[in-house]
Amino acid sequence: VNHYLQRIEETVDLNIFLEVFKSEILDKAAAVQSKIKAGNAGKLAGMVIAIKDNICYKDHKISASSKILKDFESLYSATAINRLLAEDALIIGRVNCDEFAMGGSNENSAYGPVKNPVNKDYVPGGSSGGSAAAVAADCCLVALGSDTGGSIRQPASFCGVVGIKPTYGRISRHGLIAFASSFDQIGPLSQSVSDAALVLEIMAGKDSMDTTSSSQKVDAYSDFSENPKPLKIGFIQECLDSKSLDPEVKESQLKLIEQLRAEGHTVDPVRLEELDYLVPTYYVLTTAEASSNLSRYDGIHYGYRSSAATDIESTYLKSRTEGFGKEVKRRIMLGSFVLSAGYYDAYYGKAQKVRRLIKEKTESLFEDYDLLLSPTTPATAFKFGANMDDPIKMYLEDIFTVHANLVGTPAISLPLFKHSKSGLPFGAQFMSAAFNEKLLLDFSHNLM
Ligand code: GLN
Repeated sequence: VNHYLQRIEETVDLNIFLEVFKSEILDKAAAVQSKIKAGNAGKLAGMVIAIKDNICYKDHKISASSKILKDFESLYSATAINRLLAEDALIIGRVNCDEFAMGGSNENSAYGPVKNPVNKDYVPGGSSGGSAAAVAADCCLVALGSDTGGSIRQPASFCGVVGIKPTYGRISRHGLIAFASSFDQIGPLSQSVSDAALVLEIMAGKDSMDTTSSSQKVDAYSDFSENPKPLKIGFIQECLDSKSLDPEVKESQLKLIEQLRAEGHTVDPVRLEELDYLVPTYYVLTTAEASSNLSRYDGIHYGYRSSAATDIESTYLKSRTEGFGKEVKRRIMLGSFVLSAGYYDAYYGKAQKVRRLIKEKTESLFEDYDLLLSPTTPATAFKFGANMDDPIKMYLEDIFTVHANLVGTPAISLPLFKHSKSGLPFGAQFMSAAFNEKLLLDFSHNLM
């Protein structure tokens, strides 16, 4: 704990932590130490974890990096947090992210951007940029993030750490601030696959507080098999042919394919002709869900109320206008538009149909393949400001990650390429069929 507290002090300029629970974690660490001595400590005794600022921890502040929730305190803890605490994990603080998890660079936080620990001129990715940076800068052992369209995997790729988005329904969303409820999942970021596997195993499983959580049995993810069998891996040809793909990322993918073949796996090209529809489908559906989810921030129920409010109408209008940032407003407007009576069928209804087609196509690929491979991101981290005036360009950065959220499958980003020419890391993404985290993690552990 002292080591991580010191690292946090040494890296304040990266703007990773919104709050450090310093005295509290020192007290808790002492209590856990006594439990260890008494021989009755939990499976995570002493594991220091940072949490994204959209995951509730009772009696602690939570803001989703938004002004609208400034100084709001959680009334209860997320189920994922309760399960970690029950195994004696130590929560060190809450980390910065894009406002309401909307973004891919951390530039949308009301509390300023996080800097990439590998090179401070570059973004750490987002929206869980603080989580990835906290692990990369050695400010905690594991950080929790949330992933709606890549927000765990993309920053993991940009900062050179492991990040996994579990199957939709694998971890309860109770206590996760909702962005797009049919996409959102909590997941861990860490240096090693084994830390991620252990934390995932403890957080996963049915929860009566979230009806979309699955009652499928949770495998012992951290109990890696000694001799993993050769797998059938499909690499998505359209990802390699994508115009936006950086030549160095492409070259590294081709090398990885050769390496996997040399290790005895069967690696074939597979087709995903729908690739170009993924980003539009994702942004129609997630903005629709967000516009509904964020209607609760009305200046009355939660957090910020404008001091200029005079009646009910101006309370809503002024509090929301002042409390939400630009990107969040853009998404609320887009979402309200695609859900409006005249456009519902053309956009929302259509996108739902496309989502089903993509799901069926992906499921058919998993009839023949154990894993699907693609780059996590088209390129390495970009500089601050590079995509800020062009939302479409920013959205297209998510081209390889939104697939897993549209379909609900688990996907992991592995930091296989730590030393690109620019010195910035980037990851490879593997996806498995739904609820096949065991296979995905066994394979990943072996590959790292
Ligand atoms: N970059 C994506 C977006 O802005 C992903 C966000 C996320 O996964 N929370 O929607």
